[in-house]
Amino acid sequence: MKLCSKPWNPAYSTIYYLSKSNKEWKTRSTPSTVRHLRELKLSYKIHPRNKPSDQPYTDPIPPWQLFSIPVELFPMSKTAAKQNTHLTSATFRAINKDEPPDHLSIYTDGSTCMTSRKSTCAFFIHKLKIKESFLLSESTNSFNVELEAINQALAHVYHQDWNMITIYCDSKAAIEAIRNFKWTASNTIPKIINQIVNFNSAGPKIKFYWIPRHSGIQGNATAYNLANAGRHTNVGHQLSHCPNVAERLLKMQVLTRLKTISTNTGVINRQRMGMCPWHTHKRRKIQTALFRLRSGHCKLNNTLSKSDMDINPECLHGCEEKEDTTHILLHCPHYSNARTQLTNALLKNNVSLPLDIPTLMGCNPNIPKHTQGAIAKQLVTILIETQLIERI
Ligand SMILES: [Zn+2]
Repeated sequence: MKLCSKPWNPAYSTIYYLSKSNKEWKTRSTPSTVRHLRELKLSYKIHPRNKPSDQPYTDPIPPWQLFSIPVELFPMSKTAAKQNTHLTSATFRAINKDEPPDHLSIYTDGSTCMTSRKSTCAFFIHKLKIKESFLLSESTNSFNVELEAINQALAHVYHQDWNMITIYCDSKAAIEAIRNFKWTASNTIPKIINQIVNFNSAGPKIKFYWIPRHSGIQGNATAYNLANAGRHTNVGHQLSHCPNVAERLLKMQVLTRLKTISTNTGVINRQRMGMCPWHTHKRRKIQTALFRLRSGHCKLNNTLSKSDMDINPECLHGCEEKEDTTHILLHCPHYSNARTQLTNALLKNNVSLPLDIPTLMGCNPNIPKHTQGAIAKQLVTILIETQLIERI
């Protein structure tokens, strides 16, 4: 289903013609792809956009032909740079003091807004007095817009003759993805790498330089303002961007189907597919306990009593309630000290949330990522201290 972004795939032309044709297939000889394509609603733009012959040649480079893409990092951390913008600006000027005449510096940045569902990217070339911003046809994440900015900047200077071109970018993720040839991380990466290969064979060397964002570096601020202005005013070029709509659509369909048949809170409260970092733990024992608590299939009395008549479903500590996840985490007086400790620890981290099962289990989708991490950490501490981990 990633074929719209992988034109080099041998199945590309087949799926292109299948998705375009209105042929009626006999029930027993319908190609399986046709069923999926129809299920995903063909009216939605899921079919490959361009004819196979129109696709640019962006075949991944085989591993033995990979080369190193030079990357440099600004000598200050993001936090330190933000705290002292004057020092950051002075350090940056000192580094770039002796810029040779055959060297070109390009500043790139992207901006994306979840409310207006608009994504823009921009680049700024001080030496050539060029400021360009682009509005992407479809909203995407900040990683993709940063990459698109680099792609557009390289395309702009494609026919120029320089000895060295340095791209100043404030996204380490984007730079690392290019440097490590992460072909599938974004549709734009093959395009960028393809351009770098062409630049290298023609003469100019491409270098990436990570700079901290919003910390007094003039070029970065200009690129940022350009990208932001492009989002608010709709000026700038319109860019046809093709995110992987088919994949997103298919994932949402699978999730909806899973939600209807599941009773697991970890599944029902999900808003998207994929792994949540706070649901996992590097220690297998803890990870297993967290999974069991979320799914309800644990070794607590209520669960065990369903398969063994001799086991009493009630709480081990003399309560009259059934011993399950909700009871031990929210109601059992035996663990009240641990519960208070958990609430206090969360309050210390400025987290004041209703203490309920979805919140504690990391299944409340309205809680931000860092808070989810803090809650999971505290819960693990409590599970170990009360030795509940042995019984789950
Ligand atoms: Zn109890």
